Amino acid sequence: MTKGKRKVAVVAGGAGFLGSHLCDALLAESWEVICVDSFRTGRRLNLRHLEREPRFDLIEADIIELRPGRILREGGRIDAVFNLACAASPPHYQADPEHTLLTCVLGTRNLLQLAERAGAGFLLASTSEVYGDPEVHPQAETYWGNVNPTGPRACYDEGKRAAETLAFDYARAGRVRVRVARIFNTYGPRMRPDDGRIVSNAVTQALAGDPITIYGDGSQTRSFCYVDDLIDGLVRLQATEASLRGAVNLGNPEELTVAELAERVVELTGSASPIVWRPLPVDDPRRRRPDIGYARQVLGWWPRIGLEAGLRSTIAWFAQERHWAAAVRPP
Ligand code: NAD
Repeated sequence: MTKGKRKVAVVAGGAGFLGSHLCDALLAESWEVICVDSFRTGRRLNLRHLEREPRFDLIEADIIELRPGRILREGGRIDAVFNLACAASPPHYQADPEHTLLTCVLGTRNLLQLAERAGAGFLLASTSEVYGDPEVHPQAETYWGNVNPTGPRACYDEGKRAAETLAFDYARAGRVRVRVARIFNTYGPRMRPDDGRIVSNAVTQALAGDPITIYGDGSQTRSFCYVDDLIDGLVRLQATEASLRGAVNLGNPEELTVAELAERVVELTGSASPIVWRPLPVDDPRRRRPDIGYARQVLGWWPRIGLEAGLRSTIAWFAQERHWAAAVRPP
């Protein structure tokens, strides 16, 4: 499986939206990549272009049950383990909350054990959801968050918080070199049309000429990071030799309301779709904006791609995937 002297990365969740872009970025930097995915929310379509890539291997497995030995081979090296495996959109992670929580906790433990046995660096894709409905704005890594521990989002929010805890426990014990990225809303090509969040909803609905759904009054804010910027941040974070004080926020600090985002999409698609309003889901955060001062300082990282350029390429991708988008309408 591992050939030559190239660096080898395990990407759990590599068939998903972010994971498949991470596989591409690592392959472009001459890594060998072992993707581990259960295809729960990931798609084979995202990896189709890698079918004949000799430096790419796919292992179909659920990380909850993953044994490190299944990945580790005699003499095979692994330099980096990236854990992106977890459904990320609320309708998907709430569909089977027990599985989501166990993916975060048991799955992360299995991958930490793999990293420990291989002597590899470990990166956890955590989330801005660990800040819950924040009382501090913007959110810096030093903020401990305002999470409802028993609500319908808790399987994800608390699952990721527990995964962070476990990762830092391994790090404190000197067992694994750990990096934790707190990822804020990210968008781009390969998002699922039924993702259920504002960017994919607005783009697919605008392209189909359907009414665009906004939850609540649309005044809640989000900050949207284009996928290429985010992946660059993850690669830098895994690579840095800096001694980090803890988790690192990765996201785009440009904040706008959900209604403004929908209007930009209507403008850029030239759609005639009207906007329809639906009730706000439980525990939906009012405001979300990352403080990325720490990522700037330790990684020299900040987003380069503006909203208009990012939306244009996302819209172009969804337009090309339209037959598929039409078959799976957002909830
Ligand atoms: P995604 O749903 O597209 O990808 C997740 C991948 O993990 C899928 O391929 C899925 O099949 C796989 N997976 C899920 N549970 C698994 C399990 N138990 N075993 C093996 N594979 C499993 O989501 P995404 O948007 O690409 O998110 C990737 C990671 O980034 C997630 O961990 C998510 O929490 C985090 N994140 C994403 C965002 C975002 O805006 N997209 C924001 C914050 C955090």
